[in-house]
Amino acid sequence: MSGPVSTADVPAEPGEGPTEPGEVEVTESREATVGEVTVRRALPRRARRTVGAWCFVDHMGPATFDEGRGIDIGPHPHIGLQTVTWLLDGEVLHRDSLGSEQPIRPGQLNLMTAGRGVAHAEEGTGARRLHGVQLWVAQPSDTRDGEPAFAHHAELPRVELDAGTATVLVGALGSTRSPARRDTDHVGVDLDLGAGRSVLGLDPTHEHAVVVLTGAVAVGRTEVTPGHLAYLGPGLDELALDVREPSRALLLGGVPFPEQVLMWWNYVARTRDEITAAHAAWTDRTDRFGEVPSTLAPIDTAGPPW
Ligand code: MN
Repeated sequence: MSGPVSTADVPAEPGEGPTEPGEVEVTESREATVGEVTVRRALPRRARRTVGAWCFVDHMGPATFDEGRGIDIGPHPHIGLQTVTWLLDGEVLHRDSLGSEQPIRPGQLNLMTAGRGVAHAEEGTGARRLHGVQLWVAQPSDTRDGEPAFAHHAELPRVELDAGTATVLVGALGSTRSPARRDTDHVGVDLDLGAGRSVLGLDPTHEHAVVVLTGAVAVGRTEVTPGHLAYLGPGLDELALDVREPSRALLLGGVPFPEQVLMWWNYVARTRDEITAAHAAWTDRTDRFGEVPSTLAPIDTAGPPW
């Protein structure tokens, strides 16, 4: 469920900067395949690479597996990022090189912090359906070389909206704050919206994105559907969302990430040398990433193109 990033996602040239307050920029997601599941990759895109520290957004499914099949992503490495896993349907078993073994179900949050290096696998558990997201958060330079960690949050705070319910995955919506670890000033909220208008209070220092998972959500006059990301630059203190039929969406935001990130495969770094070193350590199976107690085969790929 976690990547990988390909050269079709992130070119060498810089992406676009913030838009004017109130302007809605819509970016089309790119379809990719992760395991056997079709994903809509909303970030990174050529025109928009990060929103706050959010640097990767995969909307997975909805998918139906044949009997005995599942997501089944074998052990693979990460550095310099947090993986945020959030399901709308199905179940996935997370195993990592820290010894964590954690099923995740809808309404729960898995948050893995890679730091200098971690490896994990994502296994099916027999659930025939899968629908969810996996997001990456770029770690800032003061923690990205630190210890890896894993946390599971079975309960998250909720906020009743005018026409729906918000669940705060990370950061805060108004005065309601998630207990999840946060290394930068960013926010992630699940929006379960019924017909009508819901108004969300925003932090005006944040830029934001709305990613629709089911249904359709009007952001201002712009209707947003699955397969698109609506970007809003900093300077907004509230956002009205209009919905005609029940819809599900994510609100992602944060202070624009101050560093240029370099992403390749499952690594988030700053320089090519850092990625080259990480990939050599994975390929050589050094103890930088450790072992994942999974029956699935580890995933390897040829080295970076430079
Ligand atoms: Mn992963």
